[in-house]
Amino acid sequence: MQVFNCDVLVIGGGGTALRAAIAAKERYPETAVLLVTKGTLGKSGATANARSDRMAFHATLEHTPPGGPDAWKYHADDIYRIGGMVSDYDLAEMLAKNSADAFYYLDRLGVPFVKKNGLPVQFLTDGSIYPRACYTGPDTAIDIEKALLNRFLELGMPFKEHSMIYKLAVNSHGICGAFGITENDDIFAVNTSSIVMATGGAGRIYKDNVFPKGATGDGYALALECGIPLVNMEFIQIGLCSRATKLACSGSMMRAVPRFIDEEGREFLPDYIPGDDIHDIVFRKGASWPLSYEHPSHIIDIAVFKEINAGHKVYLDFSKNPIGFDFDRLSADNRKLYEDEIQTSDMKCNRNDNPLARLKEINPNAIQWLKNRGIDLKIGQKLEIMPAAQHFQGGIKIRTMADTPIAGLFAAGECAGGQHGANRPGGNSLLDGQVFGKIAGEAAAARSRTIKPQGLASSSLEQQQLHAKALKEMRSDILLSEQLDTVQRIMSRQASVMRTGDGLAGALSDINKLNDMKPDMKGQSLYGYFETKNSIITAIAVLLSASARKESRGPHLYFNSTEDLIPLPSLPEYQHYFMISYDQNGWHIT
Ligand SMILES: Cc1cc2nc3c(=O)[nH]c(=O)nc-3n(C[C@H](O)[C@H](O)[C@H](O)COP(=O)(O)OP(=O)(O)OC[C@H]3O[C@@H](n4cnc5c(N)ncnc54)[C@H](O)[C@@H]3O)c2cc1C
Repeated sequence: MQVFNCDVLVIGGGGTALRAAIAAKERYPETAVLLVTKGTLGKSGATANARSDRMAFHATLEHTPPGGPDAWKYHADDIYRIGGMVSDYDLAEMLAKNSADAFYYLDRLGVPFVKKNGLPVQFLTDGSIYPRACYTGPDTAIDIEKALLNRFLELGMPFKEHSMIYKLAVNSHGICGAFGITENDDIFAVNTSSIVMATGGAGRIYKDNVFPKGATGDGYALALECGIPLVNMEFIQIGLCSRATKLACSGSMMRAVPRFIDEEGREFLPDYIPGDDIHDIVFRKGASWPLSYEHPSHIIDIAVFKEINAGHKVYLDFSKNPIGFDFDRLSADNRKLYEDEIQTSDMKCNRNDNPLARLKEINPNAIQWLKNRGIDLKIGQKLEIMPAAQHFQGGIKIRTMADTPIAGLFAAGECAGGQHGANRPGGNSLLDGQVFGKIAGEAAAARSRTIKPQGLASSSLEQQQLHAKALKEMRSDILLSEQLDTVQRIMSRQASVMRTGDGLAGALSDINKLNDMKPDMKGQSLYGYFETKNSIITAIAVLLSASARKESRGPHLYFNSTEDLIPLPSLPEYQHYFMISYDQNGWHIT
């Protein structure tokens, strides 16, 4: 077995991992950092792949309204209060206070943020009071990944790609190493006293998701296995996305007010929203894209979810106006918002013609973007949509140094939790990876200066090899792919837009049974085995957390029955977060 030695092991290759590795090296240049990532470095994970019409990086800068030395407090308040007051306020404070530094670091690395008169341009995103979203365009995250990767390579740190860490090793002093496996099923070990976990979210536990390959919740499962609690796992950002292209149908896609139709052209929203304000609700969905109990536009997600579960396909149709649409009857506020978005001032648009005319006026790039990917709205093609998982707001419970209850284990970015609440104002996730990535990297490097790796016992290396051999020899009736498909199908049905006590209990029972089954490993890779196992464990954590919260908050809409249209209300007794953990006695929720 190959054995690597390092002071700090960084697990992951996204924006958070790169920031952590860079921070460790820049703060203490003598630190031996090793980065291990699944996939190709710079190409795997959400940061390197995620795109939307305008991807946001939140920062409170000197010119960000309301201005003044205390402006960061409004930012912290948005994260905490709009988050439903179920996170740690001090972590929100850290995000807000460190946001300007995080932004300017990326700016210095050459991330091409849009600027006007030398100042970064900032716009207002979902769930914020002031415009804080800096951006480069649809590729903000990809631009951040590229700039960080250049810096990482410039610092000359070693890395190991196409390899996953599948087990952490802990002794009485805390972290003492980790075990990994390559895509060719070669096991390796790492001797280290400090680990930064930056493994991202777990969108792949849902059938309908917009995450890249490999987002199987490995970090959550690894932490749980060491007895570390996860927090806020029921809060998963879900939003309407194009099934074929994964484009989030936010902003202009809703402000153009398209028709929501099924495969036969039946317009179904009026069945769910009988009032006159139906078109205003669709318009406002543009600014409240993720599912949220606190925003009335969640009725649209419910309608789409119900139609799909009744066996229909759901499309956005931009070729005809919805029944009864009249642009001049939109509220004055919404018409003003529309005016603010106009991009093609030279054309005469009849706003009552059809949604396509409006989309052309406010976001012609979206039409071209979709055409480049095979969906031509101009010839009347429809955009099939689904409610898709996009971000995990919760994760490994961290404190202010990105630390966890195990000495030497730090977590940051999407795999960490406690910094965001139920709703996450758009743009704070990319920020989170930069702020806590830096904190984690520096703290891990600082620890490695005092506690040197003691080396993994040779017996534990042998044990891992024997374990791998035994796993490879497992034979049964269920295939790995069948296990994963089942988890994904159940999660998209029972732990998505509509959750009920019965649905969650049934899902939990089915997934627990899957967890007890040994898959047939004939011709299968161990790599795939660990990813599937981690998906199952993460799904159980989500289901248990969701079952404990018998109220609605953020993206967690809890119903008495799936026949209902109105979710149960938020309740004051649930204004706290749930932490979930397990040990030899089973799962615990506190
Ligand atoms: C479509 C979309 C749009 C988004 N829009 C925005 C936005 O506008 N603003 C915003 O702030 N956020 C947005 N987000 C969220 C944001 O992009 C992510 O939360 C963020 O990029 C996560 O960064 P990360 O470094 O923590 O994880 P990732 O970038 O996902 O990286 C995780 C890394 O860990 C590796 N890995 C996982 N498990 C292992 C293992 N066991 N061993 C080794 N390596 C492992 C993966 O291969 C990957 O390299 C969006 C997300 C999506 C999907």
